[in-house]
Amino acid sequence: MATAGGGMAAPCWVLRCCSCRLFQAQQAKRSAKWSCSVCGQRQALLKVYGRGSGRDCRHHVQKLNSLQGEAEEAIARTARCCPKRHAVVSVVMIN
Ligand SMILES: [Zn+2]
Repeated sequence: MATAGGGMAAPCWVLRCCSCRLFQAQQAKRSAKWSCSVCGQRQALLKVYGRGSGRDCRHHVQKLNSLQGEAEEAIARTARCCPKRHAVVSVVMIN
């Protein structure tokens, strides 16, 4: 009876790889670095796009990855002056 959270699985985060740019669910990190499960790129943890159970996160990842194409297209159109990736924040559309 010492466990908190009613037996929930480990919390997960939705992260985005800076290399292959895919969103993915990862177990919540204690360090400031993580490795992409798709391309293996090790990188700094810059932004958490979502938090929740593994199931929630995977669901959210699917949504973000399917939105990503459209969102990046829109960003490319509106942010041509800035080739850096600072404009990418607007991809976060959590419902
Ligand atoms: Zn990657």
